[in-house]
Amino acid sequence: MSIWNPWHGCHKKSAGCLNCYMFRRDSEYEKDSTIVTKTNSFDLIVKKKRDGTYKVQSDEGYVYLCMTSDFFIEEADEWRKEIWRMVRKRQDLNFFIITKRIERFNVSLPDDWKDGYDNVTICSTCENQKTADERLPILLNLPIKHREIIHEPMLEEINIEKYLQSNKIEMVTCGGESGPNARECNYDWILNTRNQCLKYNVPFYFKQTGAKFIKDNKLYNIERKEQMKQARKANIDTGKLL
Ligand code: SF4
Repeated sequence: MSIWNPWHGCHKKSAGCLNCYMFRRDSEYEKDSTIVTKTNSFDLIVKKKRDGTYKVQSDEGYVYLCMTSDFFIEEADEWRKEIWRMVRKRQDLNFFIITKRIERFNVSLPDDWKDGYDNVTICSTCENQKTADERLPILLNLPIKHREIIHEPMLEEINIEKYLQSNKIEMVTCGGESGPNARECNYDWILNTRNQCLKYNVPFYFKQTGAKFIKDNKLYNIERKEQMKQARKANIDTGKLL
């Protein structure tokens, strides 16, 4: 697994962005996170070593693309064309794009995209019912080969049954929020989503609890390093894990 951040910086868009990790990290260095700039890793995925092999090798398998910005942000509309060319070139890797801007998916889409590249999975983040109902109908209607839903940070109970029954969703991931100002995440919401996934036979993944986790009406403050471990302990995943 590898991470490729061709640009950095973003603008807060919806409730899930409130405590964005990237903004938090940048503020420690007094860096303005709202300035979107290309990084030195812009062409990382096609860079080669002296022996002619790629720096990011095939056995990495999965590449998370754009984790300190949003892949579909306006400032990157021109840059994205180049990134699509690189993604197409690296058919040996699977690219995961996690976005809150699914409505901008078509901007700068390559001419040969057709019904999607096999090696691209688009993950639409929806943190509450409102964003689910705005974004998921768009996700389902776009020409995409692989689609996933992410509720992270999950801020309330979310009903996505009508989207799951489309048979077009390959995975649903849930998780709480991290950081000092984290909002609460309730285990009941997670279990509710899991039940929806079971009903429609969609793989489900509980990624992490977040820092403030409610279970059986009791609030638990969970340290960062324990948040994924506690989710694993719950042992409620039903599908593939990356
Ligand atoms: S879209 Fe993602 S990167 Fe951008 S502000 Fe929101 S959480 Fe942060």
